Amino acid sequence: AVAVELDGVTKRYGETAAVDDVGLRVREGEFFTLVGPSGCGKTTTLRLIAGFEEPTSGTVRFAGESMSGVPPEDRDVGVVFQSYALFPHMTVGENVAYGLNFADPPEGMTRDERVAELLELVDLPDAADRDPESLSGGQQQRIAMARALAPGPDVLLLDEPMSALDARLRERLRAQVKRIQSELGITTIYVTHDQEEALAVSDRVAVMNGGTPEQVAPPRTVYREP
Ligand code: ADP
Ligand code: ADP
Repeated sequence: AVAVELDGVTKRYGETAAVDDVGLRVREGEFFTLVGPSGCGKTTTLRLIAGFEEPTSGTVRFAGESMSGVPPEDRDVGVVFQSYALFPHMTVGENVAYGLNFADPPEGMTRDERVAELLELVDLPDAADRDPESLSGGQQQRIAMARALAPGPDVLLLDEPMSALDARLRERLRAQVKRIQSELGITTIYVTHDQEEALAVSDRVAVMNGGTPEQVAPPRTVYREP
């Protein structure tokens, strides 16, 4: 089944088409990556899916349903950004619990139990009382994922979540993100400028250029830059 569909989606800023007549179909449970150089329209595409922007023309659909005019909080998406957006004045556990301000915990589960489950999922089971700033960059991003996943969204959107990390931590976080995604089987749309990273984690990759995907394919068939 198609989880997320972009149908003739264009986003203009003045003369610039940041996203130019994009058609994409992301399947349920797929790890789908938008890759390409800076300025090719990756972040704008993700923001259109999240609902932070509305298309100039075209339609974004979730499970066949048009998202036109639907605000981000009603879209059933969890979003993780490039820089750690954790609240420094809250503990790690409170940061994760914040994700539950927009949704109830699953039936039969308390907020605390849900937070514990999420910390377990991101492999930081003992971090609830810690100060976010005492964690490594990779650990902070995992907490940001736990917070984004707290309401149980259908779709996870990740915008360059590794880019602030050094190469070693990036590789560790990459493996963690992949594990979390397959454990949940959650539809994931991932943005990166790093082709190697894209090819390593994805079920399919959309190679973008000038606001348009030039190629949409599984990693093994994607043309690699020499
Ligand atoms: P990427 O994420 O691939 O680096 P973006 O989606 O951020 O690309 O940007 C695509 C193009 O749209 C770029 O030329 C960028 O300068 C332009 N752009 C993005 N956001 C805005 C904005 N809010 N106002 C004007 N131009 C923008
Ligand atoms: P991240 O990969 O985000 O930095 P980790 O929790 O995986 O977070 O690891 C942080 C650091 O602590 C790493 O350098 C890792 O080698 C080290 N580390 C993680 N778990 C253990 C452990 N159980 N015992 C000793 N060192 C650990």
